[in-house]
Amino acid sequence: MKLLRSEAIVLRRIDYGEADRIVTLYARDAGLIKGFAAHARGSRRRFGAALEPFARITLHWQPARGDGLARLREAELQDLRPDLRAELDTLSLAAYGCEVLEALFADGEPHADVFDVLEAYLAALPAGTAQERAAYKLLFELRLLRAAGYLPHLLHCAECGETATPAQVAFSAERGGRLCPSCAGSDFRLRLSPLTLGTLARCLNVAADRFTGFRFGSLTMAEGAAVLGDALRVHLPHALRSQAFVDRFLENATPRQYDKNGP
Ligand SMILES: [Zn+2]
Repeated sequence: MKLLRSEAIVLRRIDYGEADRIVTLYARDAGLIKGFAAHARGSRRRFGAALEPFARITLHWQPARGDGLARLREAELQDLRPDLRAELDTLSLAAYGCEVLEALFADGEPHADVFDVLEAYLAALPAGTAQERAAYKLLFELRLLRAAGYLPHLLHCAECGETATPAQVAFSAERGGRLCPSCAGSDFRLRLSPLTLGTLARCLNVAADRFTGFRFGSLTMAEGAAVLGDALRVHLPHALRSQAFVDRFLENATPRQYDKNGP
């Protein structure tokens, strides 16, 4: 069987049996790969440290057989990203990013832009302040939701198309996104400034691999996180293991000036 060669990022790995590993990766040209690496824990020659989470590697592999697992033959390490493991915050935000990506693109087609967004997110995290990292997480979620085709309507009412901008609009990812007061009716669990939704929409006009240089106020950060959190809750097939960790990080990184139940 033909040996393929792909640029890939390791999302996670689990030990299997005495010496083997099952590794989940995202490849730029092949999308999500779940692969079996025989003797990975013993063979420094074929894999070295290349199968560590978050590592960018050049992977030599063969597509899945009947058991659904690709065969990982060899890997060359391009970037181990040791900086991400130096702090609990960066480690948990990186793990969260990998977990969200795996859940949203579980069996889809390859998206080169998704690979690039993950690569840039992992590269940006170590140098950021807590506030900047919270903004990186926001941008990462926004771009992934768009790539997956789950971007909620931000600039007009999802149900009637109304674009008027009262002081507050309602938001429900379940109903497609922004809702004008008459469509929202009593469905006002999440209400927020339309300016926040405008800011999120404008962020999508910037190159998807750019994470630095954005400045968000504390209201935009808190409302943006609530909007994207709502969209992810609706579209993710299961709860995330890293969610609690990341929520705790955000509580510390984001000033608490925002009550999602509104005034
Ligand atoms: Zn409406």
